[in-house]
Amino acid sequence: MRSVNTNKELQDVIQEWKHGKSTVGFVPTMGALHMGHIQLVEKSCNENDFTIVSIFVNPKQFNNKEDFNHYPRTVESDSELLKKHGCDLLFLPLQSEIYPEGNQKIELDLGVLNEVFEGPNRPGHFDGVVQVVHRFFDLVKPDKAYFGLKDYQQCMVVKQLRDHYFKEIDLIFCPTSRTESGLAMSSRNARLSKKGIETAAIIYKALNAVKSLYQQVEPKDALFYGSYILKRAGMEIEYFDLANSDSLISNKKWMKKGKNVILVAVWLEGVRLIDNMVF
Ligand code: AMP
Repeated sequence: MRSVNTNKELQDVIQEWKHGKSTVGFVPTMGALHMGHIQLVEKSCNENDFTIVSIFVNPKQFNNKEDFNHYPRTVESDSELLKKHGCDLLFLPLQSEIYPEGNQKIELDLGVLNEVFEGPNRPGHFDGVVQVVHRFFDLVKPDKAYFGLKDYQQCMVVKQLRDHYFKEIDLIFCPTSRTESGLAMSSRNARLSKKGIETAAIIYKALNAVKSLYQQVEPKDALFYGSYILKRAGMEIEYFDLANSDSLISNKKWMKKGKNVILVAVWLEGVRLIDNMVF
């Protein structure tokens, strides 16, 4: 596995690969890698000649400076893990490579996506995602790019960005990797205590509880029950709601099978955790 820090070095490697007509898969990450990330890397390795993984803790997508400062940074072990799982190139850019002076801001009207769930709760977050993903797509020009459905709304934002600016890139959305307890893997889990990890697994139980009541009771009653499960476990709910899985418009009625998504954000031990379930 090669590792580069500058755009110049990145371009040299990509040129070499593309010259031989090889396909390139790309997995953007913020590091502190776990098996959720590795799932994306392995899929990319299986579907492309070469795989590039980036690690960049993007300041523009953190609306909370504390969260940015506390974000785990474990580049050495990340690098070992990537090597073991077949990554060909690790791109570890400095901030100045991603946001050089005079870099133009990318405009993209996200419409409803900015007004629901993560949108109002993390002002500026998706704009930061748009800026960084646009820059990476522009530099890497991958054939395929891999994202996790753990960040469901982010997948929809990236799809809008792709549809607008990068129609030639295939987006591959991968299912949420969970621990045996059902807890969605996340770099932020590293900030929870052992007890917190156990408690956080209840998020999955609450999502399943709502799903199990599909068409048995009104959605609001199913959500009330799910909220009760979360609160009883000591979690503070930021949002917990049902929406249409295509539009993310919140819905008071159940939709047909496959079109329901429950999205949740909670706070536990000062850590913000998100998860979702489509059914
Ligand atoms: P992050 O490093 O948190 O920005 O995540 C990088 C990529 O990995 C994003 O596309 C995430 O959606 C994806 N990802 C993170 N956690 C998981 C997970 N538990 N299952 C699947 N994908 C994930």
